[in-house]
Amino acid sequence: MGRVTETIDALAGLVAGGGVVVLSGAGLSTESGIPDYRGPSGAARRHSPMTYQTFTGDPLARRRYWARSHLGWRMIARAAPNDGHRAVTRLQDAGLVDGIITQNVDGLHTAAGSGGVVELHGRLDEVVCLDCGNRTSREELDRRLREANPDFDAAVGAVNPDGDVDLADEQVAGFRTVDCAFCGTGMLKPDVVFFGETVPADRVSRCFAMVGAARVLLVLGSSLTVMSGRRFVLRAAKLGIPVVIANQGPTRGDGYAALTVDAPLGRLLPALADRVAAAAPTGPVGAGAVPAAVTPAAL
Ligand SMILES: [Zn+2]
Repeated sequence: MGRVTETIDALAGLVAGGGVVVLSGAGLSTESGIPDYRGPSGAARRHSPMTYQTFTGDPLARRRYWARSHLGWRMIARAAPNDGHRAVTRLQDAGLVDGIITQNVDGLHTAAGSGGVVELHGRLDEVVCLDCGNRTSREELDRRLREANPDFDAAVGAVNPDGDVDLADEQVAGFRTVDCAFCGTGMLKPDVVFFGETVPADRVSRCFAMVGAARVLLVLGSSLTVMSGRRFVLRAAKLGIPVVIANQGPTRGDGYAALTVDAPLGRLLPALADRVAAAAPTGPVGAGAVPAAVTPAAL
């Protein structure tokens, strides 16, 4: 009883009418073991994010990125959707959620069974050639990197559980990167939007259209630090569309919110789904959600 109940009542009241568009961020995936570098544990980050300019312009930095990412990838590739992701799927299955925009590159919404997810910043489990544009799976690249670096694992001892790997300079120097297998020479890059890079315009337009048609914009687990996501909150507010923000800790969108909820999403969202989606006919929730889940290991 008390404030928590009142908050869930208010949240349920806004969501029960449907037309919800979800905007999710790293905070939704922390309970899957993927760190939120801007959240409460953000101080744990040991490396500054790779920028597009550094990645493409500095061969040594690129080699370091791939060496760390090669280790970090497998550490968290096993991450699975949590109760928060599954609750979003329940809300979608109940017809209450019209669209999902995520800032996460981990693929966990889709792995939880949600459909039509717009992945604003791309997916880490896909790789693109910057020369010929050919796309391949990260799994395939992982296989090629293992072949090119048969002794690398043995040489590298300590790996952070979150994949934010520390490597000595000599370990990085010994790591062999690979080029595009399709054109033979192209530079490969994870198909995610790096810092210093812009989200493709057609993807942004699609998100603005979704937000413009929403009855409610529900922000889940984003501190809205970067304009890439915050602009959708600003748009909704400008259009008079209620914004609800559920996040642990304050966000840069709180001033625009009709309601803010500070609670662990893995508990809050199932409680919300129980309240508003219970009557809707849904299949087994989360069962068989097996697609590879990934993480922004070295971003
Ligand atoms: Zn290529």
